Amino acid sequence: MQSNIRELLESLLRLQEKDVRVLKLEEELLRIPKEKSVHEQKYEKVRLEWEARKKELQELEVQRKRLELEAQALRDRIAKYKLQQMQTRKNDQYQALGHEIELASQEVARIEDQELSLMEQAEILKGRLQELESQVRAEKLQFEENVAALEARKRRLEEELEKTRRQVKEAEEKLDTELLRKYRRIWQARKPLALAPVTQDSCGGCHMKIPRQTVLDVRSEKKWVECENCGRFLYWAGETGV
Ligand SMILES: [Zn+2]
Repeated sequence: MQSNIRELLESLLRLQEKDVRVLKLEEELLRIPKEKSVHEQKYEKVRLEWEARKKELQELEVQRKRLELEAQALRDRIAKYKLQQMQTRKNDQYQALGHEIELASQEVARIEDQELSLMEQAEILKGRLQELESQVRAEKLQFEENVAALEARKRRLEEELEKTRRQVKEAEEKLDTELLRKYRRIWQARKPLALAPVTQDSCGGCHMKIPRQTVLDVRSEKKWVECENCGRFLYWAGETGV
């Protein structure tokens, strides 16, 4: 009987080890999409800034063209005024046209200043865009490498998970149905620890003090002992409880 309990405990411990591995593998697999999205966001951030700057440059170009058209319309008007000046014989009209020409010329100069300033801004922006373009290329490459590494890790984890689940099944098939059912019930409630070692007269699962007699029962390995507090199977792991 004694060796029987010991053997069964060891079988359950091996099963628990596999169950724990399955849990860990499942958790690791769940982390992969999150990691992927972190890499993706890093790449997206640079790409979006590049797109925003590109749009800004296009808008500057639109603005510059609009100013150019405005300036051209004014120049046409100035030419028209000059023609009218030549055609008029009235001095006050000549003066008035001269005034209009002056105003329009000032406006043209103002617009040309604006155009110049826009062109300067565009030059700075083009420099920044070049920097961003190489950053986007580098980030894209990095992102693709990271994704490939994650995919490879995912495949490895899935293979190991499949293998470990098979081992769980094999371990389960060797166990008594009742014992297995009980273990599964405890596992569901207390994972990742269904079997707890007794360490320094306490349950290694919930850390509650265990009565002296219970400790002795665990040590003797003559019957199944459960923790009164958490319901875990208790087992003896030696004086130090390792
Ligand atoms: Zn306990």
